[in-house]
Amino acid sequence: PRKFFVGGNWKRNGTRDTISKIVEEFNKGPSVADADVEVVIGVPFVYADFTQEKLRKDWKLSVQNCWIGKGGAFTGEVSAEMIKDAGIPWVILGHSERRHLPELKESDETVAIKVAYALANGLKVMACIGELLEEREKGQTQAVNERQLKAIAAKLKEEDWKNVVIAYEPVWAIGTGKVATPEQAQEVHEQVRAWVASNVSPSVAAEVRILYGGSVTAKNSVELAGKPDVDGFLVGGASLKPEFLDIVAAYK
Ligand code: 13P
Repeated sequence: PRKFFVGGNWKRNGTRDTISKIVEEFNKGPSVADADVEVVIGVPFVYADFTQEKLRKDWKLSVQNCWIGKGGAFTGEVSAEMIKDAGIPWVILGHSERRHLPELKESDETVAIKVAYALANGLKVMACIGELLEEREKGQTQAVNERQLKAIAAKLKEEDWKNVVIAYEPVWAIGTGKVATPEQAQEVHEQVRAWVASNVSPSVAAEVRILYGGSVTAKNSVELAGKPDVDGFLVGGASLKPEFLDIVAAYK
């Protein structure tokens, strides 16, 4: 019953030239308008309008961060209201790069505030969670994911969850070429869904899409997509390449 979801995260990549080229490739792919898959591309703010104009209309746009305050005195920030006003439906929040880069260091609490604020302002959210390698090696994977989820869940009402997808992105798999095995992904996704069932509600757990992210490629996506609790992907590097079209089709 859960519609497969494929998100792309372009991160700090792209120029007008490269974006024009990749979007042209993406626009050649089959329509997903009546398909059992939803596709969303996360772009840098400055290229949002540019991409929106060119991108096929059956794929949707996202940005990769948002600010949480009303009012104007937040130099350099782009608020959820502005994103909504610009016609962008989605935002990626809590990405591990924003959680862990020393220049950014977003806390569980900051991420949770952003998620709640974005939802309250009519955006849909890809909320990212995931453990570091050292946390996995210490057997803390489940605890870390639950801690990150708990901070978010504490600020949401049950009805908010219809506008949330959860992206499980083990940090050791991001940009490393070291993809989680389908069994590793399924194990965590199952734990995450069980946590949502106990701490939000069984119906939200049954409906919420849980994406896997971290070194997803056309090649490894099919087997991952075959796991019962893997409801889609959040794709970094491969979302800048034509093979992203094959990942979009991996659910078939
Ligand atoms: P890669 O697909 O490049 O590993 O990146 C994953 C990611 O961080 C998506 O948000």
